[in-house]
Amino acid sequence: MTSPVWHPFTQMKTAPEPLKVRSGKGLWLELEDGREVMDLISSWWVNIHGHSHPDIAKAIYDQAQTLEHVIFAGFTHDPAEQLARRLIPHLPDSVDKIFYSDNGSTAVEVALKMAWQYWKNMGEDGRKGFIAFEGSYHGDTMGAMSAGSRSIFSEVFNELMFDVQYVPYPATFTGDEDVEQKETESLQAISKLMHDNPARYAGLIIEPLVQGSGGMRMCRPEFLQKLSKLVREHQTLLIYDEVMTGFGRTGDWFASNKSQTKPDLMCLSKGLTGGFLPLSVTACSDEIYQSFYSDDPMKTLYHGHSYTANPLGCAAALASLTLMENNSGGFQEMYKQHESFACRLLSNPAVSRVRVCGTIMAMDIVTGDEEGYLNKVAGKVKELAIKKQMLLRPLGNTLYLMPPYCITGKELHEAYTGIEEILAEIA
Ligand code: PMP
Repeated sequence: MTSPVWHPFTQMKTAPEPLKVRSGKGLWLELEDGREVMDLISSWWVNIHGHSHPDIAKAIYDQAQTLEHVIFAGFTHDPAEQLARRLIPHLPDSVDKIFYSDNGSTAVEVALKMAWQYWKNMGEDGRKGFIAFEGSYHGDTMGAMSAGSRSIFSEVFNELMFDVQYVPYPATFTGDEDVEQKETESLQAISKLMHDNPARYAGLIIEPLVQGSGGMRMCRPEFLQKLSKLVREHQTLLIYDEVMTGFGRTGDWFASNKSQTKPDLMCLSKGLTGGFLPLSVTACSDEIYQSFYSDDPMKTLYHGHSYTANPLGCAAALASLTLMENNSGGFQEMYKQHESFACRLLSNPAVSRVRVCGTIMAMDIVTGDEEGYLNKVAGKVKELAIKKQMLLRPLGNTLYLMPPYCITGKELHEAYTGIEEILAEIA
């Protein structure tokens, strides 16, 4: 019988049948037909401690027996209060107010709305634009999509979106000799926009250190340092979309910590609940918060969702934070293995632009076809990977690894060998 289910990011007519998953344990997924597969992309980058972690499962179970959900306007609850208090010490000290929503896209929507309204609340009505980066992706809702780079994902909605100004992202890789030049060009483009139109921009939004969906494009911490200085000089807001880079992905708790930079707004989601439940956070500076804090009802942030700060999600996030605090080695050390594999790949003609940032490693497969999301090599890699018990989901010809932090050295080694075999087979 044909399934009534419509899957995301899937051309239902041509896509292969989805694989049915029966269970997950740690790194491994068990398929209904009994096959076992290593989840090397943490199921769309959310699953940081491995599947079905008993501590998180127990936290959700315990919470469900006490309070499963409650309206979050006019009411609050311990899991939400505690989570905010436990999260803040890990964030850069520029942000100390926590606004909850449900997923990465809504975290970005909230950040954009906060930035926009901040200026209105401050009496600066001309701040109508945002600066964003070429190759960026901030989510699929209208605002988040508008802030992202125009792509095949958004093309059909072009007339519905608001305009933003794009500047180049200085994407770099191992052995890149032009990195400084690219960074200078990007900073000059931002400078020019801000000089030409002072007091026009409400904020600049960036995926710091790694652009995810745009192809695991990495920039240097040095760039973020110069960027944040520039944004400060021009007195606009710096928005970090750390939906993917958050919670250890870059080898530190957040890309902000790793780059020692301080955004005014920060969007978090994916790893927040360890991959168990949808939840997100938009953290903002006290200055932004104070602009809303008023007797004037028109200065209120009129935004919220039915499931805002869901207690089960908050309980999962608290358990996940404990796991991160107690096992920081998992995400802090993974880069060492990635880097030695990267070294090996440098002499492999099947790939180019090999790059590593913390737990993320990526490379571009050399094919005769146009690079990008529609490159057909992705399908071939996925198919070959499953045969080798690996879940890989290349972004076009960009092949990447983003495993959960519980992966062992031996499993990682198997994954690297599997990738080398796949590259040899498709060459
Ligand atoms: N921002 C970034 C950087 C992301 O990688 C994603 C998801 N890939 C989002 C926002 C959107 O998150 P969600 O899919 O949870 O809406």
